[in-house]
Amino acid sequence: MIRRGGCSETVTRSINNHAKMNEHLKNDLIALDNLLEKVKEQGLEYLNNISERRTSTKNITSGILTLSVNGLGTAETLKQFNSRFDQIIVSSSGPRFWGFVTGGSTPASIVGDWLTTIYDQNTFATQGQGDISASIELETIQLLLDLFELPNDFLGGFVTGATMSNFTCLAVARQWIGKEIGKDFAKEGVSENINILTAIPHSSVVKSLSLLGVGSNNIIKIKVLNDNREAIDISDLEKKIDELRGEPFILISSGGTVNTVDFDDFVAIAKLKEKYNFWWHIDAAFGGFAVCSKAHKYLVEGWENADSITIDCHKWLNVPYENAVFFVKEKHKHLQVETFQNSNAPYLGNPLENFSYLNFLPENSRRLKALPVWFSLLAYGRKGYQDIVENCILLANQFGEFINNSNYFELLAPIRLNTVCFTLAGKENQQKVITFLTLLNDTGKVFMTPTIYNGKNGIRAAFVNWRTTENDIEIVTKLMTEIINKIMQQVIE
Ligand SMILES: *Cc1c(COP(=O)(O)O)cnc(C)c1O
Repeated sequence: MIRRGGCSETVTRSINNHAKMNEHLKNDLIALDNLLEKVKEQGLEYLNNISERRTSTKNITSGILTLSVNGLGTAETLKQFNSRFDQIIVSSSGPRFWGFVTGGSTPASIVGDWLTTIYDQNTFATQGQGDISASIELETIQLLLDLFELPNDFLGGFVTGATMSNFTCLAVARQWIGKEIGKDFAKEGVSENINILTAIPHSSVVKSLSLLGVGSNNIIKIKVLNDNREAIDISDLEKKIDELRGEPFILISSGGTVNTVDFDDFVAIAKLKEKYNFWWHIDAAFGGFAVCSKAHKYLVEGWENADSITIDCHKWLNVPYENAVFFVKEKHKHLQVETFQNSNAPYLGNPLENFSYLNFLPENSRRLKALPVWFSLLAYGRKGYQDIVENCILLANQFGEFINNSNYFELLAPIRLNTVCFTLAGKENQQKVITFLTLLNDTGKVFMTPTIYNGKNGIRAAFVNWRTTENDIEIVTKLMTEIINKIMQQVIE
């Protein structure tokens, strides 16, 4: 029985049975109800005022503590955290944090994330006397395949972010290339040159190639289409394929580039796949969510034919960090196991018979990352995500309209989905882009990130947060007008 404000008989008993329990641990155990209540209140305070909290800070944290011998206990530690950090933590999960591609967290996902911490499962096996958390993960993968309208011949799993998802998919692709030329790279190491074809890979793809020993210099760059596009020129792709004279290769395609959210033509690539022998990977970290909008799902048409797909959940799915999935066609599971299996652990059994995530992805021990996703998908359903995605697209277009109608700004690319890539109008103002962005971010009311696109200094605003509204667009466009007017007046004076 739990008495509010106190502790249960079971807790009292366990304390009595544990005479040597550390004093702070003992006191924390007794005060757990109180501690969690305090954190709940503090969490509500953050969430309820997220729109007013600053999006940037110039404060730096003071000093670095040394480890104390006796510790402070949790209540005192919370006070320390609050006095040193709480006030200067920025609202990166709030409605006007448009830098990078930064998602927020839905209420359901926060609930799921809390429970993940409290239950603290180590998620790997689905069979044997282990826990059931891997079954929750497998169920969540099915829900995600449903959301993305993908067939269930994909095997999926959770990793920390799209970087690790790209890494996982490309690791299996690497093993596939080896098989094609009679090598087992997982066992023998990478002894051959691996052909990588891609146009505008995300930086994390390049990083993954370097981690995998493939070498980021081995990329064969494919041309992009004319007319301000970032999508693969299919005829150049076919030309580069022909130059390989039948050698197997890995094609890394984009389901949403970060600057202009351009998509490769997946229908055309699927056709090439009938003709040529290659591994097809799609990095659809945030662009994959186009499928949730009726008007935009054509962008991913044909993607079900890929061998592997990367999706980030901590972006447009709006669950807390660190959360992403990979989807790899199940027919490649032998290659996946060859890459990731724990070779020296007899208790694991046959990895193909006794399914365990630790033989299918980089990590062994893992928290139950699926739970926040499971909660959010059940809580809001297909319609919930359609609403989130379509709202973000609408707001991106409204913001884009402001840019288009302004004399001082101009779009660097058309708005294809949820990101606005723009700059200051006029060549002579190129060197003022960073000044403008710094002043804007310094207001603490909005956060955007700099970029370079087609040789120009630019600014990106990415809309992926469920909380953002038209009112936020108004606040920001007003600020932008004030700041740009000031900058331009200074020039005249
Ligand atoms: C964000 C992003 C990544 C990297 O994702 P992390 O979650 O930061 O590891 C990879 N690819 C694309 C297209 C992205 O937008």
